[in-house]
Amino acid sequence: RSRKKVVSEFLFFEEPMAHVLHEKIAMERELRRALEKGEFELYYQPQIRLDSGTVTGMEALIRWNHPEKGIISPYTFIPVAEQTGIIIPINEWVIRTACQQTKQLLEYFPNLSVSVNLSPYEFENRRFVDKLARLLEETGLPPHHLDLEITERMAMDTEQAIAILTKLKAIGVTISMDDFGTGYSSLSYLTDLPIDRLKIDRSFVRNIQGKKDAILPAIIRLGHNIGVKVLAEGVETKTEAAYLRDKRCDEAQGYYFAPPLPYEAFLNFLRRQQRNELRIQEMK
Ligand code: C2E
Ligand code: MG
Ligand code: MG
Ligand code: MG
Repeated sequence: RSRKKVVSEFLFFEEPMAHVLHEKIAMERELRRALEKGEFELYYQPQIRLDSGTVTGMEALIRWNHPEKGIISPYTFIPVAEQTGIIIPINEWVIRTACQQTKQLLEYFPNLSVSVNLSPYEFENRRFVDKLARLLEETGLPPHHLDLEITERMAMDTEQAIAILTKLKAIGVTISMDDFGTGYSSLSYLTDLPIDRLKIDRSFVRNIQGKKDAILPAIIRLGHNIGVKVLAEGVETKTEAAYLRDKRCDEAQGYYFAPPLPYEAFLNFLRRQQRNELRIQEMK
């Protein structure tokens, strides 16, 4: 009797898990191959200063150009990459490519800064600080043109986060807190962390005409009170952009200005913007 039960439990629990594990292993192999074959590409989404309409920088967002499946979103493969550790070489590729391409853009647009997303796995890696310094040296990008995005989850162990961030800041890069407001850490850690910017998660930007109205202005003031810049993510409409500008939000990023764009298209966007054809003009 007991043997049969054990067998059925085994089948019930182990089979789906084995299946998931198998899929992860298969995807890890695919990701490794993608890296070797050069199937990854960085898209760039502009970050706009709301008072002037100037492009201050851009966020580098990875895409996987899969030969059969087409463009794959990072929401699909980044979690698996993190669980299997292959995120380390992928993010090395991301940082190197972002630094190289930004270095090229600086020739024409000397004030741009590029933001890259760090993964928790990497953030806690002792060798990351040295690796970052090496990549900056190798690519020749001056460190203050690189911004690293971390999340509240990575700052949960505040003491450790302060130690790591202090080392990173010593290199000369800036730090942004991504998806701000969605994490579960207490707010007290904020004043202790050496960060330069809060990126308000796009969930707060939705329905700003409605009841959530109380939250956005409060986050903007909080940021300014602790002496950091505030950027709103996921700005999709003129109403949202104008509202944020009125509330003194420093910067914005979102489909209203531009979606993430391949390098060449992003370069064209910068050129158009230089000729004052940007949508920010409509807000005036
Ligand atoms: P994130 O860092 O919060 O990036 C913002 C996401 O919001 C991007 O999705 C972007 O395309 C999307 N977005 C931008 N504007 C709008 C808008 O107006 N409305 C809406 N609804 N969405 C908007 P994406 O590119 O699919 O990236 C998803 C997440 O994947 C990123 O979230 C980031 O956490 C992660 N990720 C992307 N690239 C990398 C990378 O190179 N390394 C690592 N570790 N993570 C990455
Ligand atoms: Mg980000
Ligand atoms: Mg974000
Ligand atoms: Mg987000």
